[in-house]
Amino acid sequence: MTVTCYGERCEEAVEAAEHEIRRLDDLLSVGNADSEVSAVNRDGTGTLSEDTAEMVAEALSLYDTTGGAFDITVYPLMELWGFTTGDFAVPDAAALADVLANSGSDKVTLDGDAVTLSEGQGIDLGGIAKGFTSARLMEIFKEYDLVSVQCYGTKPDGSLWRCGIQDPNHPDSDSYLGVLSLADKAVITSGAYERYFVDETTGETYHHILDPKTGYPANNGLLSVSVVSANGMLADGLSTACYVMGLEQSIDYWRTYGSDFDLILMDE
Ligand code: ADP
Ligand code: MG
Repeated sequence: MTVTCYGERCEEAVEAAEHEIRRLDDLLSVGNADSEVSAVNRDGTGTLSEDTAEMVAEALSLYDTTGGAFDITVYPLMELWGFTTGDFAVPDAAALADVLANSGSDKVTLDGDAVTLSEGQGIDLGGIAKGFTSARLMEIFKEYDLVSVQCYGTKPDGSLWRCGIQDPNHPDSDSYLGVLSLADKAVITSGAYERYFVDETTGETYHHILDPKTGYPANNGLLSVSVVSANGMLADGLSTACYVMGLEQSIDYWRTYGSDFDLILMDE
């Protein structure tokens, strides 16, 4: 995460932000064996801190509203594809079927702060954690008399923020799909161009947003989904979910639930 603040107490604010990012990372990271999420994945059950419980609750609710497109029980699938280790491989069909048989957030129970997974399950909050964290930073920044933070309030001169949406076909260049003018909103984009690997024998590309129904990377013609919302956690969860749902289903979702977010979808 990159944080830029403007105002008298901006240095203190940035330090507080960094501290909070690291604190949340220590709770959530599946790459850290000592994290709260790792403990749950090891033990199959656990008592969550308030923050983690809030994210799991939101994730379970997104699982329901998106018809299973957003599913934090993708963790064993992420492992199988090697996204957790960098040891990438296309899984064999039998191994994939085994993992799929156990997965599904409908088999996760959350009772207050107590979470229980079912046999063979693991959770990964990677699809929602950054949005939760950015929303938290906005709360922290309110305490520091800041003039401005990226996309918090308006720019120091009172004008709107301009936020470029990366062109998924040219992710390393400065070309944009377009530029949004915003105040007090989070913009979160999911695309296949951030984390992926190329299978050396076939030349096929496999990316890190998995369709929980097939166990394979989502492949429905969408190249990028950006969600604009005052609710950062929602924006993050939905960017991942819509990427899985595809163009038509995402538009339907927006028609049903879209009172507090907007979507920018780019297909092939
Ligand atoms: P990024 O990690 O690039 O910011 P996303 O917010 O879209 O992108 O999250 C992708 C991450 O979400 C993956 O790295 C993985 O941890 C997790 N994930 C992958 N597929 C799903 C899914 N169908 N539902 C929920 N989380 C997912
Ligand atoms: Mg996301």
